[in-house]
Order: sequence, then C-alpha cells, then structure tokens
Amino acid sequence: MNIHEYQAKELLEKYGVSVPKGIPAMSVEEAVKAAETMADSTLYVVKAQIHAGGRGAGHFKNDPNGKGGVRLCKTVDEVREAATAMMGNTLVTIQTGAEGKDVQRLYVTDGVDIDKEYYCSVVLDRNTSRVSFMVSTEGGMDIEEVAENHPEKITHASIDPVTGMMPHHARTLAFALGLDGAAMKSAVKFFMSLYKAFVELDAAIVEINPLIVTDKNEVMALDAKMNFDENALFRQKAVAEMRDESEEDENEREATNWGLSYVSMDGNIGCMVNGAGLAMATMDIIKLYGGEPANFLDVGGGATAERVTAAFKIILSDKNVQGILVNIFGGIMKCDVIAEGVIAAAKEVDLSVPLVVRLEGTNVEQGKKLMAESGLPIISADDLEDAAKKVVEATQDAQKAA
Ligand code: GDP
Ligand code: MG
Repeated sequence: MNIHEYQAKELLEKYGVSVPKGIPAMSVEEAVKAAETMADSTLYVVKAQIHAGGRGAGHFKNDPNGKGGVRLCKTVDEVREAATAMMGNTLVTIQTGAEGKDVQRLYVTDGVDIDKEYYCSVVLDRNTSRVSFMVSTEGGMDIEEVAENHPEKITHASIDPVTGMMPHHARTLAFALGLDGAAMKSAVKFFMSLYKAFVELDAAIVEINPLIVTDKNEVMALDAKMNFDENALFRQKAVAEMRDESEEDENEREATNWGLSYVSMDGNIGCMVNGAGLAMATMDIIKLYGGEPANFLDVGGGATAERVTAAFKIILSDKNVQGILVNIFGGIMKCDVIAEGVIAAAKEVDLSVPLVVRLEGTNVEQGKKLMAESGLPIISADDLEDAAKKVVEATQDAQKAA
C-alpha cells in the first residue's frame, strides 16, 4: 500500500527523520492559510499529492506547456495561484501514464535552501532477506538510469537483522555521499532514524529523492515515498488509516474488498485462477500459445460462488478482456462446487466473451458434467495446455468477429 508524501513525512518525523516544515491542504483556501502560518518564510513550496513521482517535471492536462506539480513560491499570493492551478486538475508525470492523476490534496512546505541533492532508498532485499540501503550522489535523478549508466555512483549497505543498523553502516553511507563534519553527523542520525522507521512501520520501500543537505549542513528528506507490506497492516493501524482509496485502481480496490488478488495487465485474456503459482504458469502458457493476459485474478483457496461471481465481474469490467480462462485446481475446494460457482456467475453477469474452463482435482468429472449440462457456452478443457490453446483461439475468433 502506498501513501502520500505528506503522510510519509509525518510518520518519518516521529522517528526523528528530519523533514522540512509542511502542512497538508484539501482546498486552495487551506493552502493559503497554511502559507500564512509560516509567517517568517521567504520561500513556500506547493506540492501536488498524488501516488506518483516525477511531479516537478510533470505537467497539468489543462496546461500542457505550463509548470508541474511542485512549485516554488515567494509570496502567499503566488501560493494561491499555484494551488488554484493544481487543485482539481490532472497531473501527468512519467509515472502516472498519459491519463494522469487528479490532484485532490496539496502539501505546502516551508522552502529550504538546498546545498546538495542526493538519492536514498531502503528496501527489503529478498535475495539476502535483509533491509538494504541504497544511496547515490545523483539526487533528484531517475535512479534506474543511474543504475544502468553509472552503477559506480550507487552504494549499498545491507543490514544484519541481528545487530540492526549500526553507526558504521550509517557512516559508510554518509561517506559514500562525500559528507563530513556537521553534515556527516546529521546524516548518521538521519539514516539510523530511517532504519528504525522502516522496520517498526513494516515498510516495504522508502525512497527519499532527493535527500538534501541544507545550507546549514543539515540532512533532510525533501521528498518521501513509502510503500507498506499489506500483510502487516493489521498491526499498523495508523498506517492503514492513511489509505487513500481514490488513488487506487478501481478493480484492484474491489478485489481487495472481496479478499481477491487482482493484477491488471495489457493483454486481452482475463485469467481466473487459484494460487499465485498457478497464475504464473497460466500466464506463461497463454503467452506460449500467442495470447496476452489482460489480468490475473487469484480467488485463493476458499472460493465461494459469491466470490467467483465478484471475480467474474471484476474481470469483465476490464474493457480489454475478449476471452476468459478459468483455471482452477480443486484440492480443498471440490471441482463440482467450483463449477456451480462458475455457472452461477456466468448466468448472473450475462457473459459476452468466450469462457474456457479447466478444472482439475477432486470431483472433476462431476464438475465437468455440471458445466456441460448448464446450457451455457462454456468451453471445457482437459489440461492446462489444452485450455491455453482453446482460450487463445476463441479470443482470436471473437476479435475477428468483432
Ligand atoms: P518529485 O518531482 O515528485 O520527485 O517531487 P520532489 O519533492 O522531489 O520535488 C522536485 C524538486 O523540487 C526537488 O528535486 C527540488 O529541486 C525542488 N524542491 C522541492 N522542495 C524544495 C525546497 O524546499 N527548496 C528548493 N530550493 N527546491 C525544492
Ligand atoms: Mg522526488
């Protein structure tokens, strides 16, 4: 789960990670008021809050050649102007895709004087099962590009969970950024606090881009992106409350509400499966036979008729879906129960695209019989290969006919 920059900074600050002063605003008036409370400020920054980066270099749809979603303002009047230009409009950045994202929240910060910009991220490295820090002297830049062209400019520190982050880890990172004196000291506190926040909040990714050194040699997070492990949200109530559903894909949200995992992709074959491993195999074999998955929806172990129906509706609401493959292994679940669910769902949603069903496992013959007798145009498949061939073929035929 992602949260907004202002929320991430609020969390990080509680752990002692230094951030510029800032106030979130849900309207232009609130943004103006926020700036007014920063009485002795000579620089304000108005920042669009969306779950995507690259805001500064982005543009608004209604003003393609205008400024982006991070604007430096010298006066409160300029803050009003910037807030008016952003609020309720659609911001397009390299991370939002062409459709952009609607700006409903702003963050007004007390502008800081930047001496240098760096990059810092913390992730859970699955190869080493450790929390891993990554810093680079190339701040504010696209880190994938730095990794590709200048890997020598990136320094890693892998933290042993037994000791946790030690001052020497933090010094190694600060040293890699070329910091010394007061900036080094500030950086060590920064990295130590960041680690504590990462671990205690069950974060999955924290990206600080840029991490800055101010003209007063203080290290600060000028930007902050945080992503959390959803499996831990039950014990992170404060984080869970930060969820902004309006930022999430509508189908993914609906799937979450039903306890289904749904991932949307670019192709035209919708996949309903049980288990992530079977989902991967299903997508691979669809591709092998020349098809492209539009999504995959994992109904999990206990797929009831209601959940299968919800899953069908979600798959069908994807406009790109021109065929559906149901590939379910009935282990704990019996195939006849699954077939009943599929039949009920297909009737309820008024199926308009070809549906291929491959069932395997307990009571498979009864399941197949139910489908054959249902009167529905369900194409039954014997195994995964057969199913993939049939769905690719049926989808191509449907495409030609359309
Ligand atoms: P992003 O474009 O979505 O990554 O948003 P950032 O929060 O990283 O801001 C983009 C850029 O705006 C930063 O890299 C800075 O150069 C600039 N910026 C943001 N806040 C300040 C500030 O307080 N002072 C100054 N001088 N520049 C800022
Ligand atoms: Mg940034």
